[in-house]
Amino acid sequence: MAKTLKTSADGRRCAFPKCNCLLSIYNHESYCHVHRDQAAQEGMRKTPYRHYG
Ligand SMILES: [Zn+2]
Repeated sequence: MAKTLKTSADGRRCAFPKCNCLLSIYNHESYCHVHRDQAAQEGMRKTPYRHYG
């Protein structure tokens, strides 16, 4: 069932440790909508790549 996908644009997952949420290809954040807020509040935004501009 679980395919071994390499890091691809359309197969990213939430960067939160216990979260396996699959991120939408339209979501350029590293976290899902839930942890995006949470991570920001806890100041643990270790986003590998940012897409602000
Ligand atoms: Zn998450």
